[in-house]
Amino acid sequence: MAKILKPDELTQINFEPPRTGWMNTPVEFRPGTWCYSAAPKNLKYLDLPNPREWQPSDADWKLPANWKEIILEGFKERLEKYRSFRLFMDICVRCGACADKCHFFIGSGDPKNMPVLRAELLRSVYRRYFTTSGKIMGKLGGARELTVDVLKEWFYYFYQCTACRRCSVFCPYGIDQAEITMIGRELLNLVGCNINWIIEPAANCFRTGNHLGLQPHAIKDMLDFFADDIEDRTGIRVEVPINKKGAEILFVTPSGDLFADPGTFTCMGYLMLFHEIGLDYTWSTYASEGGNFGLFSSHELMKRLNAKIYDEARRLGVKWILGGECGHMWRVLHQYMDTMNGPADFLEEPVSPLTGTKFENARSTKMVHITEFTADLIRHNQLQLDPSRNDRLKVTFHDSCNPARAMGLFEEPRYVIKKVCNHFYEMPENTIREQTFCCGGGAGLGTDENMEMRMRGGFPRANAVKFVQEKHGVNRLACICAIDRATLHSLMEYWVPGVEVTGVHEMVANALMMKGEKERTTDLRGQPLQKMEGSEDV
Ligand code: SF4
Ligand code: SF4
Repeated sequence: MAKILKPDELTQINFEPPRTGWMNTPVEFRPGTWCYSAAPKNLKYLDLPNPREWQPSDADWKLPANWKEIILEGFKERLEKYRSFRLFMDICVRCGACADKCHFFIGSGDPKNMPVLRAELLRSVYRRYFTTSGKIMGKLGGARELTVDVLKEWFYYFYQCTACRRCSVFCPYGIDQAEITMIGRELLNLVGCNINWIIEPAANCFRTGNHLGLQPHAIKDMLDFFADDIEDRTGIRVEVPINKKGAEILFVTPSGDLFADPGTFTCMGYLMLFHEIGLDYTWSTYASEGGNFGLFSSHELMKRLNAKIYDEARRLGVKWILGGECGHMWRVLHQYMDTMNGPADFLEEPVSPLTGTKFENARSTKMVHITEFTADLIRHNQLQLDPSRNDRLKVTFHDSCNPARAMGLFEEPRYVIKKVCNHFYEMPENTIREQTFCCGGGAGLGTDENMEMRMRGGFPRANAVKFVQEKHGVNRLACICAIDRATLHSLMEYWVPGVEVTGVHEMVANALMMKGEKERTTDLRGQPLQKMEGSEDV
């Protein structure tokens, strides 16, 4: 990992633009600001083009001889296929409303991290090859040749966009920078310019069913291990159904929940909840990944990886699907699954077996988000909860970009949190809900080699957490995304020490009074269940 500056040094951000014009300012691949290239073996697993050893900091990227033709042909195909992309190439009026809305621009001061200029990296090439004015006027018309330096610039900046869509909220034309970034990355992928932290999880998922490459026995071992821990804390042995044919519900969550703290505590939370309500459900070792790193690479790869969820639902003969706390999984499901791999007309419209609530919003996808499911249980008094068990915690909530901005899941997680803990504090309004700031590590950028850029990109999020830490003594940052649970941890350690990260269902499980449980003395992390001195209600 590259050496990273101290927080007070990193906040010395230079917002003065370079003296050279943007087209004449080449990128510098400084350690800490870019991600390692994809390993050839991972590209081969996925049958992706041009597997080779290379790094973005190399002068020679070992591109195919006809790389330019490949990219321009790919550009043309996508202009024809995606009407939104063609529109986004044409309609920006350069009003600048988006310019200061990107967390990477705020944290780095680099003008090419302004969404308007990031899009211009593609638009300038679009004009040169696909518009008459660009072909005639060239640079004067904002057009430029596609060169290796331009390709390098694409790589640098499209892997410094987390496709969070915050900028699109402020664009009067609704230009969605995330879609532009996705196409930019697709074009780079056509000539084998991709990053390992995306391609390796995707390859693992393709081979074994999940990003971490966990084999079925490893998944079973982890779940059994959680069951042991739950028994230790509560005296109750939970059952963990795996690959159970004929179960009513298939449960799918990101594999990060099985493997890395604090996701593991969230996973224990699911197990306890499902046991308590006697849910007829099953885990799957084949559809053992809710997340979809294909989204960060190409539409085609996203579709391939997503297909296994419906395939498994069909094989197991379930009625509908319940999904865990994950961010981009919900973007894929909510916005793409139905048209890419659906319609899932072999499944039933989801109905809660406990409350009878019909989840009409999931009529098409047949997949319900766990915070909707749990909020409905609480609303119908199906759970015995003691929120004072979470009194050690002063909680704030990070709206993960995908479930929040992309799907409008604002109220359900807040409703659940307020029912299971007594001390909840919102961050400032322009940093939450639709305007939420990204963690800085989404869209496949949550790796360690680009830590400086992650800390820069996560600065606005961290700053808002620091505000509630100083004002209210907040010590827990809740979220409903596995990537966030991983990346926010480093962000808090760097910018806001003293704030730990949690999933919502970890707090649900702490508060859950299970039938027949022994006297609970610790929470899921083994910390004593006791009130924090001087705590007060909000
Ligand atoms: S807000 Fe929209 S129209 Fe205005 S500069 Fe940004 S992308 Fe272009
Ligand atoms: S989508 Fe997010 S990361 Fe990308 S340019 Fe917009 S605000 Fe920045």
